[in-house]
Amino acid sequence: MSEQIRVRFAPSPTGPFHIGGARSALFNWLLARKYPEGKFILRIEDTDRVRSSKESEENIKEALKWLGLTWDEGVDVGGEYGPYHQMERLDIYKKYAQKLLDEGKAYYCYCTEEEIAKERETLMKENKMPIYQGHCRNLTQEQIAKYKAEGRKPTIRFRTPENQTVEFDDMVRGHMEFDSNGIGDFVIVKADGIPVYNFAVVIDDALMKISHVVRAEEHLSNTPRQVVIYHALGFKVPIFAHISLILGKDHSKMSKRHGATSVEQYKNLGYLPEALVNFLALLGWSPQDEKEIFSLDELIKVFSMDHVAKNPAVFDIDKLNWLNAQYMKKLSPEKITMMAIPHLVEKGYLKTAVPTEEMAKLVRFTEIIRDHLSYGAQFLDFADLYFNDNILVTDDEMKKTLNDETVPSVIELFKQKLDTIDGFDAVHIQPIFKQITKELKISGKKVYMPLRITITGQMHGPDLAGIIEVLGHDRVLKRIQKTMPTL
Ligand code: GLU
Repeated sequence: MSEQIRVRFAPSPTGPFHIGGARSALFNWLLARKYPEGKFILRIEDTDRVRSSKESEENIKEALKWLGLTWDEGVDVGGEYGPYHQMERLDIYKKYAQKLLDEGKAYYCYCTEEEIAKERETLMKENKMPIYQGHCRNLTQEQIAKYKAEGRKPTIRFRTPENQTVEFDDMVRGHMEFDSNGIGDFVIVKADGIPVYNFAVVIDDALMKISHVVRAEEHLSNTPRQVVIYHALGFKVPIFAHISLILGKDHSKMSKRHGATSVEQYKNLGYLPEALVNFLALLGWSPQDEKEIFSLDELIKVFSMDHVAKNPAVFDIDKLNWLNAQYMKKLSPEKITMMAIPHLVEKGYLKTAVPTEEMAKLVRFTEIIRDHLSYGAQFLDFADLYFNDNILVTDDEMKKTLNDETVPSVIELFKQKLDTIDGFDAVHIQPIFKQITKELKISGKKVYMPLRITITGQMHGPDLAGIIEVLGHDRVLKRIQKTMPTL
């Protein structure tokens, strides 16, 4: 690629920032960063006045920064080809719409929405393509005067050339060809003067000198409309790359039903940006070897649009959890604890200010449970273990285990030994279990299980000696007392 790479991410700020959008942004960003002169541009497509919001725009920008996808030009940072909000570019669109009108490549259309809807309905009934039949294509001056007198507000329609093959190159899908007769004349400027996406996007991409348009597959069907506008305005057509849909694990389109779908949700759940970026890169792109863990810098080196698949990518949450766990392994227990604190505060386990001594204990607890955590909010699954002495044994299997005849002696011996150890830490506590096994001549399971159940209310979990250490002598005895009041 010899020409300068200029790519853009052009979200419509109409709601939560979906992970699909983040993946498009990432692929663009990687393409730009691969080349020394590459530029990544952030343009906000805010022409949908009803659904666009500043809040959503802020959310997108925050998420991009959090993921490390900084932009070289665009909103907030400026640049040579601004403004970068579409609503600030209305004059520019107007100028190009006028040019098309003057050259006869577009025309005013006075059809009302009802008339258009009716025409579509009839065409559908006749099994014909629901494209505009060209009623206003060649209006006479009298007809125009009549419509104006009726107070009709016209849209501007693009006069799509007939009987042509519309072609473009797509880095993912190869050379694409469409029949222009399937497009029909389409609206480029609405009656209120606001351009439609297919028109504004062409003018912006052309004037911002975008070399590659990398975006979601759902825009593939818009591309022929955009290409005919490029030709009509004499603009150079960029190279496209339409990246595949993201499906849920059940292979249906990714939706809320599949769990969290926005970047913010993952951030709030305590996923790490490095892990999310790594995961998003693998949604559609395949590395050339078995390696799966990539930093952003590594991705810049190895990412290539040549290895972006045509077929849909499947969002596998287990894989994201696994990746996130790999990145969490690199974090200190202090950092993981800090990630967990907002969740603990939210659920009422902690107050915002954690006393130093409590903090040290919590960090030690984190050390003990950290291998069980895939993301920050999972700490909550273990919070009761640490905070809640009100152990309840309701499960039948647990009750059965505690009814075994050896249990009273196990507990008794455990209490005795706990009173006499040299240091109250996991290293000194761990040998106690073996000693009891030997002294009572029973299996390890018969020692561990009742102790784990009485102290934690669970049959499985993190290292028991470590849990006993962080709980401390008195809380351990209190819990045993609660679960086994007769002992
Ligand atoms: N604003 C469009 C969207 O958010 C951008 C599509 C494009 O990249 O051309 O879907």
